[in-house]
Amino acid sequence: MTQLGSFPGGLLLDGQKRRSTQTAIRTTPISKKLILPMQQHIGEAAQEVVSIGDKVLKGQKIAQANGHMSVCLHAPSSGTVTAIDKQPVPHPSGLSAPCITIETDGEDRWIKRQGVADYSQLSDHEIRQRIRDAGIVGLGGAGFPSFIKLNPGIHHVIDTLILNGAECEPYITCDDMIMRERAKGIIEGIIIMRYALRVTQCIIAIEDNKPEAIVAMESALEKYPETDTIKVVVIPTRYPTGSEKQLIEVITQKQVPKNGLPLDLGIVLHNVATAYAIGRAIIHGEPLISRIVTVTGTDVKHAGNCETLFGTPISELLNFCNTHRHKDVPFVMGGPMMGYNLTADDLPVIKTSNCILVGVDNTSHQSTAMPCIRCGDCAVACPASLLPQQLYWYSRAKDLDKTREYNLFDCIECGCCSYVCPSEIPLVDYFRFAKTEIMHKQQEHQKSDIARQRHENRQARLEHEKAEKERRHLQRKLALAATQSNKEKAATGNNVGENK
Ligand code: SF4
Ligand code: SF4
Repeated sequence: MTQLGSFPGGLLLDGQKRRSTQTAIRTTPISKKLILPMQQHIGEAAQEVVSIGDKVLKGQKIAQANGHMSVCLHAPSSGTVTAIDKQPVPHPSGLSAPCITIETDGEDRWIKRQGVADYSQLSDHEIRQRIRDAGIVGLGGAGFPSFIKLNPGIHHVIDTLILNGAECEPYITCDDMIMRERAKGIIEGIIIMRYALRVTQCIIAIEDNKPEAIVAMESALEKYPETDTIKVVVIPTRYPTGSEKQLIEVITQKQVPKNGLPLDLGIVLHNVATAYAIGRAIIHGEPLISRIVTVTGTDVKHAGNCETLFGTPISELLNFCNTHRHKDVPFVMGGPMMGYNLTADDLPVIKTSNCILVGVDNTSHQSTAMPCIRCGDCAVACPASLLPQQLYWYSRAKDLDKTREYNLFDCIECGCCSYVCPSEIPLVDYFRFAKTEIMHKQQEHQKSDIARQRHENRQARLEHEKAEKERRHLQRKLALAATQSNKEKAATGNNVGENK
């Protein structure tokens, strides 16, 4: 039995998960038009490798990883590329971004898939490369490129792989359902990751409010003789246990150091759905072209989990689940605690779209916020041991240096502080805003540093060219003088000869 740890703060929330776990995972019909943002992950956007008018097959690469922290993008179904342009994307900023649009042909014809039944034929480098080529990113919601997490580098020795099946946000059940229905595929992915990382133990962490998932994963493990280093660990249900640092603290009783990474503790953490995607990519040669999305909320008649192709308009997914949404009322992408509001439902489903929540209260309290009464409830609830009220004052005053001093970047944006605040201050909104401001300023600094460096390089080049010119001029002058002197010497010699 594993001795479990705990983290400070956190909340016991009403899970609201029953609504979306009453039916098996369904498949959303193929949309006539799929809109695929070239950036669906943390890092650099992929670069298109198709042109307008190109015919593409399901699973065909349409954008190439571009930069270190980037992954490829694939056609989710067969059809024709009809546009490569900026389109609105699901993001709190409401901004548009470069997208590839595919008009599907309804045939859903695959490319030739090249899986490797025996993963041990591949080196860990080849496995990472295949995972990158398959466009796999963390499917828990963060969208971090998965191949990077499987490459700890020579300075870290990894002994533990933790599979995150905690799914602590209310309403979201896509991880629960994938564990119930595709446990075998998840184990296949875990075995591959275990091999790539050379770890000695793998822990599948599942909250105790998911008994069916626990049984399914344990039964699947029994069928694999080589899974003696993989075990299911049942953890108490408490929000936000599913966050990386909090889950590590619960499982290992160790804290990830401030400004540090799980790698510093010899730990790598992946989501269970990511493990499934890795198994499909390596064994079956299938790139990541769809995901399971929870569609739930009081306005959704047939709530549930839907395997949905990336690029599918959210409106079609909502129709499929028989949703009665009032057009001007926002819905939530993600869970009620960490998700964000959207109003346009013609936006596409992307790799990080774990849940669409329609018809519940969200964490935005802006219209009813009252002054802070310094009760300290927010600090008690904070799982990162921060002082949210102080962070609030400094964020509101735009004193960004102070927010950093109070460890703003340790805030995991869980929303526990906003949730308990009796003054209904949307604290987490202030923190997101302050983070964005700081990152914006950093980018500006970087840009001006680059511009200054460029200017200094240019000055140095000009000075070097000037000095070089002067040197050559001097050389020519000296050469001329030497020639002149030689001529004169020769002339003097001739004269002497003639005089003899
Ligand atoms: S919970 Fe709200 S009112 Fe209480 S100290 Fe924190 S910010 Fe202020
Ligand atoms: S949102 Fe940030 S400050 Fe608020 S409770 Fe969560 S970690 Fe703490």
